[in-house]
Amino acid sequence: MTSTSKARESIRIDAESYRATSCESRVLFLIIHYTQLNLEQSIETLTKGNVSSHYLITDEAEPRILRLVDENLRAFHAGLSFWNGHCNLNSASIGIEIVHPGFITQADGSLSFLPYPEQQIDVLMMLVRDIVSRHQIRPDRVLGHSDIAPQRKVDPGPLFPWQRLAEAGLILWPDKTQVEAQEKAFSDKLPDMKWVQAMLAKLGYDIEQDGESSVFTKRVITAFQMRYRPSLYNGLVDAHTAALLAVLNQEK
Ligand SMILES: [Zn+2]
Repeated sequence: MTSTSKARESIRIDAESYRATSCESRVLFLIIHYTQLNLEQSIETLTKGNVSSHYLITDEAEPRILRLVDENLRAFHAGLSFWNGHCNLNSASIGIEIVHPGFITQADGSLSFLPYPEQQIDVLMMLVRDIVSRHQIRPDRVLGHSDIAPQRKVDPGPLFPWQRLAEAGLILWPDKTQVEAQEKAFSDKLPDMKWVQAMLAKLGYDIEQDGESSVFTKRVITAFQMRYRPSLYNGLVDAHTAALLAVLNQEK
């Protein structure tokens, strides 16, 4: 017997007499992904490789929720990531992977994203609701992989129905009337890049505030548009994008 196991046998912890009120779940974020693999490959990769997720939603006719990692343990789904001052979000998040092919690459190199089956989203909604309520995750912390790693990732993609999560009150979402009003104001004069970068940074995105329209900034704007304005995600600032940014930052 080792000295460690001897110590473990003799230790007595009273966990019942007192309970501190000042505490919260270690889980602050919920991160949504697609696997870009079929079910069999997804299970293989997420259980035997060096990546993992807490949950996997299958793409069967009646999708199942598989738990691959206990919620008390850290899964390896986020990689190098950042949101609002928090780095490496694996430590503080629960990861959900959805079995989904993602996109088809066209001959010209552009990506055609594929829609999610309704049943898969129904199951996902139940899971998200459950996790958010158990861990009291804030609406501005339910995110896609592309939000926390916009330079590397595009999942869950522009066809992921963020709007449905918004309607269920699970994520931060801009008020439509306010966006319309702001859009009118921005139509006369678009804000400069420094303002756009500051607004994205305030929301939580990892972005350099140098006022430059660099490829890095463009990727962050694309990630933002995929989530909030999926009909056009070209990474360019227009009045609607500026309005969304302004309203979201007011609501936050
Ligand atoms: Zn991912």
